[in-house]
Amino acid sequence: MEESATLAMAAKAREFKEKGVDVISLSLGEPDFKTPKHIQEGAKAAIDENKWFSYPPVNGYLDLRKAIAEKFKNENGLEYTPDQIVVSNGAKQSIINVMLSLINPGDEVIVFSPYWVSYTAAIGLAEGIPVLIKGSLEDDFKATAQQLKEAITPKTRAIIFSSPCNPTGSVFTKEELEKIAEVVLEHEGIYVMSDEIYEHINYTDAHASIGAVPGMADRTITINGMAKGFAMTGWRVGYIGAPTWIAKACNKIQGQLTSANCSIAQRATLTALTTDLGPTIEMTKEYRNRRELVYKLLNEIPGFKTNMPKGAFYFFPDVSSYFGKSVGETTINNASDLCLYLLENAHVSLVTGEAFGDSNCIRLSYAASEENLKEAVVRMKAALSKLS
Ligand code: PMP
Repeated sequence: MEESATLAMAAKAREFKEKGVDVISLSLGEPDFKTPKHIQEGAKAAIDENKWFSYPPVNGYLDLRKAIAEKFKNENGLEYTPDQIVVSNGAKQSIINVMLSLINPGDEVIVFSPYWVSYTAAIGLAEGIPVLIKGSLEDDFKATAQQLKEAITPKTRAIIFSSPCNPTGSVFTKEELEKIAEVVLEHEGIYVMSDEIYEHINYTDAHASIGAVPGMADRTITINGMAKGFAMTGWRVGYIGAPTWIAKACNKIQGQLTSANCSIAQRATLTALTTDLGPTIEMTKEYRNRRELVYKLLNEIPGFKTNMPKGAFYFFPDVSSYFGKSVGETTINNASDLCLYLLENAHVSLVTGEAFGDSNCIRLSYAASEENLKEAVVRMKAALSKLS
């Protein structure tokens, strides 16, 4: 199994920082906001209640699972009963639980590419085979229902994508999801893992869930979590809504892996999901401002080609015009070389697109202050101008 490329890059940037270098880190998908105060208070109140210190139920507290079912119904048009919900240690564990539940060795899982780094690792853990279908910059990086149709074989067991997408910021419209659903429904026994962890960081104001398309409820595992929209990365809370048999299998796996998700993090999540989305909406406004800023700045860098992301907090520019260029002893042969060059010479940390399925691109996270974003681009421009 490969080390997580995003975490590896963050570790490299940390090494530079420890040497006293002023590195601007744009490599991690981590909100730079603090968890909203009322959620923190929810956790403190739970500690003071002096009764949340024992093992929680494996799949999560019932009141939390009821709140999640309500959320799914009200925000996504999805009907799940609490026993179809499993709360886990981050959406990452949710995805791994589902892969282990669903995928037998040799089963194929179709991954819409560019894709979030950990999908292929999770498929590998289950001894499945990732099959990539690729969207291009010109098509907003969205693979199509037709590509999906052509990729399906008798071994296909599942499909996975994120919308809004990490790393491209693309958002599938309801109509596009309906077309994907149509292809899925033509085949027995194929399931969709719909990763909706960025649902609130959506600049189109129209998040659609494929599980709500008629006929898809029994074929969809909806994955979500608290990390992004609620600035709760460190609390490690993710959850799924799934057909009952899959939820039961995930429950069984989780019972052996981690027993349950942390009790206090669950109580904080209950507060987050039963109060208004005010802070989430404010954070999204701020991300939107940064998106406009970074779009303008990136377009000023010669040779960077980028789409306008519709959600999440990443840009995924095509930087292939720099391949083959050099300065001194250094030649840039690929996106990994360029990331390393920018870390060493501009002190900006980014992640190579290779990790996300597109080796012409790099990923830049704009979950950073405006000041840092502006400074990062100034430094990048200066370092890139030395290459010829
Ligand atoms: N899915 C996507 C698309 C993500 O970007 C991330 C986090 N980078 C996750 C899942 C995992 O989230 P969590 O922190 O809840 O494990």
